Amino acid sequence: MMALEDAINERLDKVFSITVCAFAKLFVKLSKEDQETLTVALQKGIATRTLVESLAKEGYKIGNETLNSHRYGRCRCPKA
Ligand SMILES: [Zn+2]
Repeated sequence: MMALEDAINERLDKVFSITVCAFAKLFVKLSKEDQETLTVALQKGIATRTLVESLAKEGYKIGNETLNSHRYGRCRCPKA
């Protein structure tokens, strides 16, 4: 029998995966350090292509357009 916590987490995963874009899904898989690095890079205005290439080197595949959409709020992530 599935523990209640597992059931809830699975449900949350499903909700998360349909409400956020591919970039946000990738982002949560990164280590805390990488998340901070990426957040700072986005704030500093590092070119999208540079970030995409850096992520690819680390084995994370994301498209320019996907990152751009997230960056400029055109993705389907809930807007704060
Ligand atoms: Zn997004």
